[in-house]
Amino acid sequence: SRTQPHYFGAGPALLPAEVLQQAASDLLNYKDSGLGLGEISHRSALAVNVVDSAKATIKQLLTVPDTYEIFFLQGGGTGEFSAVVYNLLASFALKTFKKGRADYLVTGSWSQKAAEEATRLGVDVNLAVDARKWSADGKSYGTIPDPTTWTLGSAADTAYVYYCDNETVHGVEFPYIPEVPEGVELVADMSSNILSREFDITKFGLVFAGAQKNIGMAGVTVCIIKKQLLGRLREDYLVDLGIPLAPLVLDFPTIVKNNSLYNTLPIFNVHIVYLTTQRLVDNGGLKVQKAISEAKAKKLYDALDAAPKGVYNCIVERASRSRMNVVFTIPGEGREKAFLDGAKERGMTGLQGHRSVGGIRVSNYNAVSERSIDMLVDWINTFAASAK
Ligand code: PMP
Repeated sequence: SRTQPHYFGAGPALLPAEVLQQAASDLLNYKDSGLGLGEISHRSALAVNVVDSAKATIKQLLTVPDTYEIFFLQGGGTGEFSAVVYNLLASFALKTFKKGRADYLVTGSWSQKAAEEATRLGVDVNLAVDARKWSADGKSYGTIPDPTTWTLGSAADTAYVYYCDNETVHGVEFPYIPEVPEGVELVADMSSNILSREFDITKFGLVFAGAQKNIGMAGVTVCIIKKQLLGRLREDYLVDLGIPLAPLVLDFPTIVKNNSLYNTLPIFNVHIVYLTTQRLVDNGGLKVQKAISEAKAKKLYDALDAAPKGVYNCIVERASRSRMNVVFTIPGEGREKAFLDGAKERGMTGLQGHRSVGGIRVSNYNAVSERSIDMLVDWINTFAASAK
């Protein structure tokens, strides 16, 4: 047991105490089998049941239709940056017998990294959005440019449009699902905001999320793919078209055909996904969670906005403010350190901004309680008052 922490880390992040308690017990002795979940064969009936249970709760939470497949793999969010390339180009080639191009909406460092990886793997990448160009200094993130400015390709030559629904470092979140041309597949990285709100999965070709923020622990990535995208040309044709072959551990058709058990899946991590998602189902589903997430985020932004001008600097434009990662700076020599030190004295940690951007970052994932947010809001107000 432990005292409930007031922890706002961006990932790996807090997990619900009851999930951890159950998981800890299942790590020692799962369902009275005499073995823990880290010890059983990934092909045993118990393990397959863990995978199927996690899939079923995700399907229920996100109302995933039968035309989509849910699967798990390793390699984190970063592994997906590569997997998207291999798999989506191959799907496009089956339809067109061509190597497609790809559009990337770059609104922060994670979509930037994904675009860079696609380029590295030989994709003809079009930065349909480069949000940096729309900032005052030409190099900062903090806005989602208006869709009328996006330079999207057509279904004739574009395999997919890629975007990151919530930029964890820069605190930029899409308030809508991007519209893409008919026939072009939409791919989303939802690593840091999945399960915080409902969304219409049928608008997407692929959604993926590293588990370590809102779903579970590092070590497993959740993917939801339109089944139509699992068809493949013969591999020699793919090679002839200049499409790189996916390593088998990232090859979606191989993973799906084997119910995510082509190679050894970390079943314990999948079990945490199951426990976390089952808890959300029990608590009323994603409509309820969305209201909670929004209410907590509003408390934070209201406090920051209400402070005397100049105390806190929220960098992200209002319409694109993330509900999950609230980022701001505190101008003045030593002020951010004073804020962090004061928070720590009051039992609140994990507030330091990403090393690439500095500042303060409050991660407001599902497991962060309203009480933690209230304590932090109190400190935001107190600190602002002392700055007068
Ligand atoms: N995408 C997003 C939105 C992320 O926040 C992160 C990690 N914080 C990644 C991708 C990369 O994930 P990983 O470290 O699991 O490769």
